[in-house]
Amino acid sequence: MWFKLLIFAIAGVALYRFFGGKVPFLDTEEKELKEEHDDFGKIEATSSCVVCGTYVTEEDALIYKKRTYCSTECLEKEK
Ligand SMILES: [Zn+2]
Repeated sequence: MWFKLLIFAIAGVALYRFFGGKVPFLDTEEKELKEEHDDFGKIEATSSCVVCGTYVTEEDALIYKKRTYCSTECLEKEK
């Protein structure tokens, strides 16, 4: 009986990877963190990308010559 469950579990993971292609644990953790930030307002410092204006947390931001970028793509555009 448990053998069927095992097959279902493997099929489930395979389907998830087929559609999402990402590690499920990381995705859910990120969503939970964002919800927490909403509850507490803007406690974490955010800055906006000087190129496209996207808001990024200081943790995720790329800072180059005291300017904030959301990604290496935007950093390349500014150069
Ligand atoms: Zn940007």
